[in-house]
Amino acid sequence: VTSKGCQKIRGSQIKELLDAKRNVLFDCDGVIWNGETAVPGAPEVVSSLKQQGKNVFFVTNNCTRPRENYVQKFSRLGFNDVAQEEIFSSAYCSAVYLRDVAKVQGKVFVIGGSGVYNELRDAGVPFVEEETDTSGGSIYDCPLDSEVKAVLVGYDEKFNFLKLAKACCYLRNADCLFLATDPDPWHPLRGGRVTPGSGSLTAALETATDRKATVIGKPSRFMFECIASQFGVDPAQCLMVGDRLETDILFGTNCGLDTMLTLTGVSKMEEAEGYRDSEAPEKKDFVPDYVVDTIADFLQTEEE
Ligand code: PLP
Ligand code: CA
Repeated sequence: VTSKGCQKIRGSQIKELLDAKRNVLFDCDGVIWNGETAVPGAPEVVSSLKQQGKNVFFVTNNCTRPRENYVQKFSRLGFNDVAQEEIFSSAYCSAVYLRDVAKVQGKVFVIGGSGVYNELRDAGVPFVEEETDTSGGSIYDCPLDSEVKAVLVGYDEKFNFLKLAKACCYLRNADCLFLATDPDPWHPLRGGRVTPGSGSLTAALETATDRKATVIGKPSRFMFECIASQFGVDPAQCLMVGDRLETDILFGTNCGLDTMLTLTGVSKMEEAEGYRDSEAPEKKDFVPDYVVDTIADFLQTEEE
């Protein structure tokens, strides 16, 4: 039995695949850049796709920047033709969800950084102002805001026990929504270091409250729904390119998109093949249709 998926493609095979698609969705970290360094060739790939008349979208679980800040990052790294409207971050989509889907009537308590606060402000979603006094406060008498109707958890380098304790109190109310920007467990940093992701902070709160957060970012379908509602794209006309099987590839599968793993980031070919060859049917959702070494291979479509 030959299992489907993980087809390693290059040259003319990539060209054929791209010719059949009108929209390309790129994950950011591990696909088009790594931290502050563009993947070599990525700016040219994005420009070339656009010149061919394709829609290019960026779907990132990184909630630490507001969208205008991403536009600056793109241009700093040599991407000169990326517009804010093409960027769908977990912070932006969380704000859209709270405003348009949940239509939350009250304030949001945020565990997260300025990317989340800025997107909520831009969307006109009220929130509890970030605590500037870190001198303490006790779990017995720290102030709680009676208008809180949602808790949103994202990546937070100032995460602390008191934030966790407050969120826990708010979520005692079954009517208080529990949202997470993304489920990412950890991220690679320079020099072989890692940083814990939003998912690890969300897990602490899930344990404390015995509730499950609604995830906004990949692999949830909501980011694609945001793109579809703004641009009217057809899933059959989309290719999702990512570096993490458990978020990007599952996201593509969940949304009915063709999926491609690129090997410039977190997941390895062996892991993809492991899912493909697994007996467990649910693992198939992590199997990419296609695999490339790097998206720079999109440029070498004339060889062979
Ligand atoms: N969240 C944080 C805090 C990150 O640092 C990163 C990657 O650097 C991500 C999420 C993942 O981003 P992406 O979905 O673009 O890979
Ligand atoms: Ca990634």
